Amino acid sequence: MDNYIWMLTRNGYAVAIDPGDAQVVIDWLEKTGHQLSAILNTHHHQDHTGGNAKLQERFQIPIYGPANDPIPALTRKLKEGDSLGLDEISLTLRVIDIPGHTLGHIGYIGDNFVFCGDTLFAAGCGRVFEGTPAMMLASLDKLASLPNATKVYCAHEYTLSNLQFALQIEPQNQDLQLFNKQSEILRKQNLPTIPTTIETEKKINPFLRCRAQNVATTAHKLYAANVHDPVSVFSSLREAKNSF
Ligand code: ZN
Ligand code: FE
Repeated sequence: MDNYIWMLTRNGYAVAIDPGDAQVVIDWLEKTGHQLSAILNTHHHQDHTGGNAKLQERFQIPIYGPANDPIPALTRKLKEGDSLGLDEISLTLRVIDIPGHTLGHIGYIGDNFVFCGDTLFAAGCGRVFEGTPAMMLASLDKLASLPNATKVYCAHEYTLSNLQFALQIEPQNQDLQLFNKQSEILRKQNLPTIPTTIETEKKINPFLRCRAQNVATTAHKLYAANVHDPVSVFSSLREAKNSF
């Protein structure tokens, strides 16, 4: 209900990112006439890899994914620094390690976009399931260091719920208020709020703003967090969001 399966298309070919459901992809391919040429996974969770086996059996395509996550039907293992040539769609992507949600989680970077799976969301971030808060914050910082214009293609439509939490942390943040209004309008029409940009996320996303004094102060006030460094601010926000 809230997973995105992004498709990169060119020359009649399509590459699927995180196909949690094979049938959705098959229906789309039949409707649009594209031929599937590869699958990219960001991490091992079922809602991102559930369609791998069925799609590979049907289309005999390569599956690219993280070296350090257990991915079904994986044909090539990727890690930070690898470059991935997708000949059919004439595109080369760069791989970055962004662990924390899972230990092997990777992101795919193109000219002006990133597929970041469940690490960074619009106005939020993924749960820290396998890594540590410090690891997750370092991954978020890595994403935040991409050029401002980078479009952020995350894997879930969690934006409105993330925004409710973010507004509790920074009620006076005008960029956040504006983004919330725009997102409400989009969601009322059942339109995606994604992609967002790195520039926007740096302005509105509390998890990218752990170094802002007002965010630290709020974390201390609301959650009685012992906030002595950005990691403890991040950690208190992430825990509070879990039960929000
Ligand atoms: Zn996940
Ligand atoms: Fe997910």
